[in-house]
Amino acid sequence: MKDSKIINLYKNFVLPVYKRSPYAFVKGRGSILYSQEGQPYIDLFPGWGTGILGHAHPLLAKRICSQARTLIHIPNNLYHPWQGELAKKIIEKSFRRGKVFFCNSGAEAVEASLKLIRAYSQGKGSILSMKNSFHGRTVGALSLTGQKKYQQGLGPLLRGVQYARFSDIEDVKKKITPRTKGIIVEVIQGEGGVNMPSPDFLRELRALCNTKGIVLVFDEIQTGIGRTGRWFAYQNYGVEPDLLCLSKGLGGGFPIGCLVVKDRFKDILKPGMHASTFGGSPLACVCGLEVFKIIEREKLLSRVRRLGSRIFSLLEMWRKTFRVIKNVRGVGFMIGIELKDEGYKLIEEAFRRKLIINCTQARILRIMPALNIPENLLFRALGILEECFKKVYG
Ligand SMILES: *Cc1c(COP(=O)(O)O)cnc(C)c1O
Repeated sequence: MKDSKIINLYKNFVLPVYKRSPYAFVKGRGSILYSQEGQPYIDLFPGWGTGILGHAHPLLAKRICSQARTLIHIPNNLYHPWQGELAKKIIEKSFRRGKVFFCNSGAEAVEASLKLIRAYSQGKGSILSMKNSFHGRTVGALSLTGQKKYQQGLGPLLRGVQYARFSDIEDVKKKITPRTKGIIVEVIQGEGGVNMPSPDFLRELRALCNTKGIVLVFDEIQTGIGRTGRWFAYQNYGVEPDLLCLSKGLGGGFPIGCLVVKDRFKDILKPGMHASTFGGSPLACVCGLEVFKIIEREKLLSRVRRLGSRIFSLLEMWRKTFRVIKNVRGVGFMIGIELKDEGYKLIEEAFRRKLIINCTQARILRIMPALNIPENLLFRALGILEECFKKVYG
């Protein structure tokens, strides 16, 4: 089947809600994707951040196969061995005491946090979110997403949501009212442009929430599971939230999401108040368990910290060489390169050179490699990207 044939099927039968690049892929292995002709592309943005172990990790694939032969799904009114085990693992790595609700995606994790806050405030509270944030596309999560472009034409949205400037504690204080019962924030804004919080912001936010009795939610759907060189990005800042939303990397590409709840809030949602048919299925949970196991066994967190700082030193040199680069930011394997120009030219040039990267907010190149990308492949890919800069801006 030619790419054009594949693309035509989409044209005729798939709802056109996505902008897509005109490339089709049929196979992946680690940080390489293969076209139909077997052409290899280096993928520095596997699965939009979900491919934390790259494509088709052999151990993950093996675990999926064996689980599929054993038990794929049983409903949540029954028990199975893997859900509790994964919950235990997540709690051990995060709050040490607390509980987990499982769902299938990021937006659903955010929705679960919204429902918990509603139950906690008996429906009377309002929520503060951040400008430029991204929390997902379901109506609740969309209401929290502080970007007009995603909300256009899709109202009415939830009432009682305010937006403060990210990393601006004074603006947060201004926007808080006596009705504010929850604050949701990405530890590092991903889709909004790889925006880093100032060192004090999260700590001050935590203190404010403690004083005012506000539930603090960290959306770590993009930053969680080792992306920044710690299990969760908040661990770089020494500040814990009350609720933690996870998804993308958690299943290594298999759909899974969850809300992690601190001990204090574990009894707010009572039996019957929330559910998900597929949430925490045996197949999804063994993926999560295998991801944790592989990251630990391959010591990927320290690897991401080590290679991450090498990447950032390299990019700092680029910033001095290429005038088009305005700013470089991020941590670990969450990397943003802010340009003074729109990024699509570089994206297209990279595709021509069989390199896949991402661009968000039109001007911010985003790179989120698999945590286990081979070192030589990583720097070869960055070499290709440097060639792209030379070609387009040299
Ligand atoms: C991707 C993302 C979401 C939404 O996740 P979906 O699985 O697409 O619903 C929410 N928040 C953040 C920070 C994300 O990066």
